[in-house]
Amino acid sequence: MSEDLFEKIIAREIPAEIVYETETVLAFRDINPQAPTHILIIPKEKIRTINDISDHQTGLIGELYLAARDIAKQAGFADEGYRVVMNCGEAAGQAVWHIHLHLLAGRALTWPPG
Ligand code: AMP
Repeated sequence: MSEDLFEKIIAREIPAEIVYETETVLAFRDINPQAPTHILIIPKEKIRTINDISDHQTGLIGELYLAARDIAKQAGFADEGYRVVMNCGEAAGQAVWHIHLHLLAGRALTWPPG
């Protein structure tokens, strides 16, 4: 998968169904949804993996979770429940090298995940 796929979505060079945007964060529907609602929440600033997050980026990382909170409230599944997960590295299944929170909702989610 392209190294800079999500940068192309940020630049509107690749289409995506964008559901939320701020100056620093973008959220759009996953192309291969694993739940009735499956949204990816990304920082516009490129960070390859969790391992590459700098100490000064805590605010930005917090904004990803605030986006999840606001999307859940707006879409009406905040009280029902949802899952937010970020894969780090190949063993965890990370396929796009630009950090992204998966926001999953709309069905009962099992634990532990596969
Ligand atoms: P991960 O495996 O954690 O790196 O997740 C990457 C996610 O990006 C997968 O769930 C893919 O389905 C999703 N994805 C790949 N290409 C696109 C795209 N063009 N638009 C939206 N989601 C995509």
